[in-house]
Amino acid sequence: MSKTDNPISKVVSTHRPDLEQEYVPLYKHFHAHPELSHQEKETAAKIAEHLSQKCPDVELHTGIGGHGLAGVLKNGNGATVLLRADIDGLPVEEKSGLEWASKKRMVDLEGVEKPTMHACGHDVHMTSLLAAASLLYNSRDTWSGTLIFCFQPAEEKGQGAQAMVDDGLYDKVPIPDVVLGGHVMPMRAGTLGTKRGLMASSADSLKVTLHGKGGHASQPHRLVDPVVMAASTVMRLQTIVSREVDPADTAVVTCACIIAGDAENVVADNAILKLDLRALNAETRSKVLSSVKRIVNAESMASGAVQDPTFETTRNFPLTINDDEVTQRLEESFGEHFGTDDNSYTSSAAKLGGSEDFGILATAIGKPSSFWTYGGTDPKLWDKVAEEGRPGDVPINHSALFAPVIMPTLQVAVDAYAVAALTWLLEEMMGL
Ligand SMILES: [Zn+2]
Ligand SMILES: [Zn+2]
Repeated sequence: MSKTDNPISKVVSTHRPDLEQEYVPLYKHFHAHPELSHQEKETAAKIAEHLSQKCPDVELHTGIGGHGLAGVLKNGNGATVLLRADIDGLPVEEKSGLEWASKKRMVDLEGVEKPTMHACGHDVHMTSLLAAASLLYNSRDTWSGTLIFCFQPAEEKGQGAQAMVDDGLYDKVPIPDVVLGGHVMPMRAGTLGTKRGLMASSADSLKVTLHGKGGHASQPHRLVDPVVMAASTVMRLQTIVSREVDPADTAVVTCACIIAGDAENVVADNAILKLDLRALNAETRSKVLSSVKRIVNAESMASGAVQDPTFETTRNFPLTINDDEVTQRLEESFGEHFGTDDNSYTSSAAKLGGSEDFGILATAIGKPSSFWTYGGTDPKLWDKVAEEGRPGDVPINHSALFAPVIMPTLQVAVDAYAVAALTWLLEEMMGL
């Protein structure tokens, strides 16, 4: 079947709103007005306003788990599909030099003023989900079922998806049969990829406090030195990956931050370690976590700590596992709609570099999910660095220079949401 006569592509191309006219300006607005995690108030209000304007029959639920919102479009019998976009920005100072660059600063939840930027491309996600919602709303006589447009806050903290679930998301909206989402990445704009199975590692962040006894640096015999305790703990933690994890498997145990003391002649009471742990499967994840606790406790005891160490989980992201069957259906639809040459769709996308909390929206209700990636890098820049043999030399997510080229990135993002939803909802596809 060629690109034009496939039924999904026909619906998408005849109902896609005018992206240049309507959605490029909306994207620029979101890009220039980013908000930090848990503080996405104006962003959520803008999404709600746009969604109720373009899709008047959508039942809107706002303020879910903070500034999360979900729109439900009921359109007859059939499957229920949830499409997810995340909406938070990052404390990064934009250096893209673009006309629509963010100059915004925001006081974060700790009361510290931070530069703020959509450095992870969540502005692409929400703009494209709004455009896809309009497309699917306008084409609702061609499909049957229920759509949920889910705009999730606080992804960067790994807390938004869980917060929405805990705040009763699935009491407010119907339980979806499938949960779908995507992310813009430093890949050639115009490309899109899916992957079966593991899509992103888990990530657990811990803040550990080691309790010593401070005092004059000249009198170590009267003290319990938390710096030595921290140093030996950090060294011993290195043995988890090298000595306890199967060499055929892999994991990361990084101590990214140590805080202890202030002056040369004063030993502090406590030392704080901030740890970042990653794993590729649930068994290794729990093994690494328990090994960290065992070592921290033992080193604390070996040093004569005045009390047991304290552990605080500061972030945690689950493993992102793409369901095989769901992903296989996407492979077929995406392949037909986008084509499968080198610069279009691939079913062998790379795993994400970081982690995601998207999967919680599905695992919380025991439903399957799939998460795809698409390129945002200007094709000219991409081809140039590839030709010069430095393919890693493009701005990546969370960089002050990460600014996806708007087209064709936005169109791929919109089409991917719409094609994916129609894979479950288009009447002509039912019973296939
Ligand atoms: Zn990010
Ligand atoms: Zn992101």
